[in-house]
Amino acid sequence: MHPIDVRDLLSSPGASRIAALHDTIDGLGTELASIPPDRPIDGDLLLESVVEGVLASGRLSGSMRMRCARCLKEFDRAFEVEVSELFVRAPEPDADDYPLGPDGGLDPEQMVRDAVGLELPFSPLCRPDCRGLCPVCGGDRNLGECPGHVETDPRWAALEGLFTDD
Ligand SMILES: [Zn+2]
Ligand SMILES: [Zn+2]
Repeated sequence: MHPIDVRDLLSSPGASRIAALHDTIDGLGTELASIPPDRPIDGDLLLESVVEGVLASGRLSGSMRMRCARCLKEFDRAFEVEVSELFVRAPEPDADDYPLGPDGGLDPEQMVRDAVGLELPFSPLCRPDCRGLCPVCGGDRNLGECPGHVETDPRWAALEGLFTDD
């Protein structure tokens, strides 16, 4: 992501302005949910000059590429996330604030990474009642049950053997 030059704000306490964010991010995601590196994240950030540095707040939006945890189908889903973070000249070691660049640049990348990262689902579903894949043939059960081999699922056959041997 490209840093936003905020030298004008740092030299004018109390001043504020809107900065448009429209930028891509690399390597944000998990195996099942990610922001593709060619897909931009958009937002309007209100930048306010405060004593410690610059307060950045606004709403970020974009879309995620997901893979259904049950049927493995890929799909896109839009997301929106609110941010409100302080970028400071001299960060305290244990504080959550983000550092301003020494040249007066505000790099939104880590803030975006943290905020959007929290929106990534651990177990995305293509729809809440996704039925997943057939354990026998791997077919998509959302397209209909496979008649014929449901009765002969080897796991059930093995269990039946356990009970009848007794
Ligand atoms: Zn699914
Ligand atoms: Zn099947």
